[in-house]
Amino acid sequence: MSLLSKSKYLIGLQCPKHLWLSVHDPSRIPEPDESTQYRFSQGHLVGELAKKVFLKGIDVPVEDFSKNLKLSKELLSKRKPLFEAAFMFENLYSRADILNPVNKDEWDIIEVKSGTSVKEPNVDDVAFQNYCYTKSGLKIRKCFLMHINNEFVKNGKIDPNKLFTQTEISDEVKETDVKVSEMLKIMNLKECPSCLIGVHSIKPYECPLKDECWSSLPDDNIFDLYSGGKKCFDLYEKGIESIADIPDDYKLSSNQSIQKECSSGKVHIEKSKIKEFLSTLKYPLYYLDFETYATTIPLYDGLKPYQAIPFQFSLHVDSKKSVKHHSFLSTLGDSRLEFLKALKAVIGPTGSIVAYNQSFEKNILKSLSVMYPSYKDWVDSILDRFVDLLIPFRKFYYYNPKQKGSASIKYVLPAITGKDYSGLDIADGETASLEYMNMIHGPKQTKEEIMKIREDLENYCKLDTEGMVWIVERLGKV
Ligand code: SF4
Repeated sequence: MSLLSKSKYLIGLQCPKHLWLSVHDPSRIPEPDESTQYRFSQGHLVGELAKKVFLKGIDVPVEDFSKNLKLSKELLSKRKPLFEAAFMFENLYSRADILNPVNKDEWDIIEVKSGTSVKEPNVDDVAFQNYCYTKSGLKIRKCFLMHINNEFVKNGKIDPNKLFTQTEISDEVKETDVKVSEMLKIMNLKECPSCLIGVHSIKPYECPLKDECWSSLPDDNIFDLYSGGKKCFDLYEKGIESIADIPDDYKLSSNQSIQKECSSGKVHIEKSKIKEFLSTLKYPLYYLDFETYATTIPLYDGLKPYQAIPFQFSLHVDSKKSVKHHSFLSTLGDSRLEFLKALKAVIGPTGSIVAYNQSFEKNILKSLSVMYPSYKDWVDSILDRFVDLLIPFRKFYYYNPKQKGSASIKYVLPAITGKDYSGLDIADGETASLEYMNMIHGPKQTKEEIMKIREDLENYCKLDTEGMVWIVERLGKV
């Protein structure tokens, strides 16, 4: 007999095919990637810290499924907060983050989440738990979501009572239709139900089977439409898969119309707009890129949950006569001040600072200037010098169909220069953060391993700024 757990229930709400495969053919479902695993590990830390809010709580060991069920039942009489207590009703199974005793014989469900607000799947999650526990004979009084308080700022030892916020969701839970029989029916189907791809493939979570289900789409598929949103799914439901096949009378934004025009392979270039953009660049040009990492529970004073800590920058300085490279890569966990000092030492007093998606770099600098007020004047003095190289691509002054509807440098660089990130061992920002974090906060690594990671990080960040130099050169010649 297959059990319907709360995680399977939530999967089933998103897609019947995913639920069926998770029961009958789980090997078809790809393992979580590194960033998903990182999110899980952060969630685990959050869960452990949340327990500290409930003094004298009892941790019910989870390793042995049957023992956990038996102990959970026995411990109810202790009338103490229970962590990971599990209950079964027929073939429904659910384990509670926290069950808190109230009044003589009632319990509150407290679900702990790493997010900073209540989201729809959280309510479905608790509604399933409430159903399962109530059917098992527990008297549930109220339901709460215990989530991260995004206003929290670390100052000394973390007080979990301040890091977390509890939001009551009893009414939302009561109003939620718990679709247990529907899910059980899907699980008992003899064959995998066929499902069309749709918004449910990416919301509320990106489905791990997306690569498999979406692989039949053509190369110039409508899901590459810039800011396509619901329009992509509307077109798909109308049977249109290629951008080239979008009917002429279908309403597209101006950027999407450019994509349709370019679906034949044509490159769209608005020379005057590009020239105008380039004329805003003032030499010497400082091509700048930051790498950062972030944790749910802030590690250092002055940080909020999820606040980025800059640990690396790359800077190419183009004086018109020559291009010089500077780089900084910290060896510390708390790299903020060292980073700021190193950056100040290499940014001269005049010239444009060119970033790709400047708000990221500017926001990092602004928050550093709050943490280190002696740098505020300097930070304020350079913010106005930023020029965003994303603009010509986000505004489609230049569009090459090889960009696949993206203005990201990862797509623009190969499309416009023919050079790409493929030869690098670290080839995206997320991997860079994870590798750095692992090097600093993870298990001890050998000297060689550390050297290799540092080299990979240097190469990756360097290509981001060197790539910008090439892109500007190329734009100057179109
Ligand atoms: S990718 Fe979409 S259709 Fe395929 S299993 Fe996932 S949610 Fe279902």
